[in-house]
Amino acid sequence: MDQLGIDALLLSVGPDLPYLTGYEAMPLERLTMLVVPRDDRAENVLVVPRLEAPRVAAQPDVFRVEPWDEQDDPIARVAAHAKGASSIAVGDHTWARFVLLLQDALPGAQMSPASRVTAPLRMVKDAAEVAALQAAATAVDEIAMTMRDRTFAGRTERDVHRELVERMLDAGHERANFAIVGAGSNAASPHHEPTDRVIADGDVVLCDFGGTMHGYCSDITRMFVVGDPGSEVQDAYAALVEAQEAGVRAAVVGARCSDVDAAARSVLVDAGFGDAFVHRTGHGIGMEAHEDPYVVAGNAMPIEAGHAFSVEPGIYLHGRFGLRLEDIVVATDDGPRRLNHAPRDLAPVA
Ligand code: ZN
Ligand code: ZN
Ligand code: ZN
Repeated sequence: MDQLGIDALLLSVGPDLPYLTGYEAMPLERLTMLVVPRDDRAENVLVVPRLEAPRVAAQPDVFRVEPWDEQDDPIARVAAHAKGASSIAVGDHTWARFVLLLQDALPGAQMSPASRVTAPLRMVKDAAEVAALQAAATAVDEIAMTMRDRTFAGRTERDVHRELVERMLDAGHERANFAIVGAGSNAASPHHEPTDRVIADGDVVLCDFGGTMHGYCSDITRMFVVGDPGSEVQDAYAALVEAQEAGVRAAVVGARCSDVDAAARSVLVDAGFGDAFVHRTGHGIGMEAHEDPYVVAGNAMPIEAGHAFSVEPGIYLHGRFGLRLEDIVVATDDGPRRLNHAPRDLAPVA
């Protein structure tokens, strides 16, 4: 905050608050907000609805809990604690309603996203965070391997989706964040919503699933095929495996995020699939499924040891098929470390 000239940090719903305090705000119309003044002699205050206060684990050396009653105005309370601040950083997930009311209550204060302060901290994972990401990755790896022995033919995308969600919860995830199942031409839409389409012989099925386990996210994509997908799909998939490998290899400390994207993309461009790779190569992962750093052209941010992100190139041909392969990688001083180890082939299934 000193470096950025930010006088007060205001954190509400979203992962910044639990990252700093261990407490996650309820996404409610009643405001929860931590006020962190830049002056480290001033106290941090957690303004919280009285009925939520019992869920807050007291940490008097970190923050003071200030419960507000139903007839109180929590905006006025936050504004009183942030009074005099001319530059305020507000949590990126804070409801617009509260931000707009705070702008009225603190006229003259310049507001910017709190990620300016918190993203550089959250991006670099410590050993405990890497261990949590690894545990989540191992859990979904095992699911990906189990799915190789499952029958896909005759089932709907929705049915496979439900199985993936259940398996994530059974494997210890507290939340299943998403489970994309795209069969045949449906997978050409990268974030396809599962439908009642029945999986048939010759279908290539994209499964991209992840959840939150002990506060940290998993995210993996594997491809399954019923019968013979044909040589065009097989050739495209071979190029995709090579592109993903090139992206992972490029994820070394000191390289730019854009270098990783370029390494994966150039393989697909050379194979004639440049136009079919319609998204960035990856996203950071941690307490959020998508967070900094983003592996995208134009992001010159240098990779640091402890950065964790996905490497997930894809090939999407409208009306025909869609392919993606995704692993989570942590940059270390000894080189890129993959957290996912489930086989990366086009898995033949019944
Ligand atoms: Zn995605
Ligand atoms: Zn994914
Ligand atoms: Zn992803």
